[in-house]
Amino acid sequence: MSEGAVKKEERRRFQAIKGTRDLLPPETALWNRVEQTAHEVFGTFGYGEIRLPIFEPTDLFARSIGLDTDVVSKEMYSFPDPLDRYERAAQILSTPSKIAGYFGMDQQQRANAVQKELETLPAAEWVTLRPEATASVCRAYIEHNMQQGPQPVKLYYIGPMFRRERPQKGRYRQFYQIGAEILGGTDAPAIDAEVIEMVMTFFERLELQGVQLDVNSIGCRECRPKYVEKLRAELVKVKDKLGADSQRRIETNPLRVLDSKLEHEQPIIEKLPRIADHLCEDCKAHYAAVKKELQLRGVEYQENWRLVRGLDYYMRTTFEITAKGLGSQNAVCGGGRYDGLVELLGGPPTKGIGFAIGEDRLILSLQESGKGAAAQGRDVYIAWMGENARATAVRAAKSLRNAGFSVELPPVEQKFGKALGQADKLGARFALILGDNEVASGEWTLKTLATGEQGKFTEMKLLEFLQTEK
Ligand code: AMP
Repeated sequence: MSEGAVKKEERRRFQAIKGTRDLLPPETALWNRVEQTAHEVFGTFGYGEIRLPIFEPTDLFARSIGLDTDVVSKEMYSFPDPLDRYERAAQILSTPSKIAGYFGMDQQQRANAVQKELETLPAAEWVTLRPEATASVCRAYIEHNMQQGPQPVKLYYIGPMFRRERPQKGRYRQFYQIGAEILGGTDAPAIDAEVIEMVMTFFERLELQGVQLDVNSIGCRECRPKYVEKLRAELVKVKDKLGADSQRRIETNPLRVLDSKLEHEQPIIEKLPRIADHLCEDCKAHYAAVKKELQLRGVEYQENWRLVRGLDYYMRTTFEITAKGLGSQNAVCGGGRYDGLVELLGGPPTKGIGFAIGEDRLILSLQESGKGAAAQGRDVYIAWMGENARATAVRAAKSLRNAGFSVELPPVEQKFGKALGQADKLGARFALILGDNEVASGEWTLKTLATGEQGKFTEMKLLEFLQTEK
């Protein structure tokens, strides 16, 4: 390689990986407002925050989400995590039958035997960047024996998820979800309705526009398999008219055909048998009661028999919420009941229901409808000149910040004209002007930048005035 090429290589400019992005100020102020509102609203419904690991054993997701789903079959970021010698040795030595075999060996023989064993053990465990968090919440519920405390357990989380999808507007490879789960206790329909009411309250508080709630019931382990077989039988009859994806799903996951957005498949899908006509008595009653409970709470919804959701673990109630300004990726929230999931992951039989909100899309929708204004700029820009004023400026900045104002204190002296220009550029509301006169008299000059009005204040009066302007 020539010297020039090396230099060029050294100067490589890095860019964020496809499908990931930086969130920058002032937009991050909006993210914080959204998350703060989630903490507040979910808190009023009695939910506590859970913070989970970003990566988990691959098997946790494979088992819970389902092998035939897009998420598990093609979208997970998984990698082998090498076990160290200590972990591998611990695996051998924790097996009583193995230990028994080492009795009677001398130290060297034992070392050789362990060494041999080490070579036969798997060198790595597969781990995955979490594509969603419901499985992790269930894992944590089991791991911390939460079923032994008061039920139900109400938890929410906020954080990044990872799926290797084709990036587009509203679809990223690293995206953020705000979700909640309610585990244990009963599956009373009021629980389903209250979870939905909580999301709708959250969206209302944020003034999200064009919100539409779709609900459905996809039955239980009793009635759903019978319906799926009926659906499969009907799909086989029209197989030739379907696209490749749907043809494949007839075998792997016929319910997912109902998700299809392909134009030419729509008239075919409309004629397929509908799950509402095949629910067992218990599921039918549960679904009817959920709808009644929603009405009781004044939550508007529409029924959508094609809403089956992409993940395997759902049963009975499913719901999805769409919002304005998102184009084709308009789902901001998806959720549903998953009563068998904790058991599937090795825990006791446990009722469960939850949802996940796509925070990126929620933010996009708020911005598109003009509800995403984020605080920018500073409250006060301190324009100071002269060595005497420097000390006063530092003290003023400290007391204003302690009182909760956002303050910009220029690190080096500037002419007043330049300082005021800078204050304008930063979007400051006020400029505090400190020169020799102000320091000598103890009367500081405050300029309101929008109007150009000026006034003189002592330090205490200044604080009082600014408090009333907050
Ligand atoms: P799911 O976990 O698939 O039920 O998704 C729940 C919500 O997360 C969806 O309604 C979307 O708002 C959001 N979401 C899912 N995948 C992505 C993605 N790749 N990029 C951005 N948001 C996503």
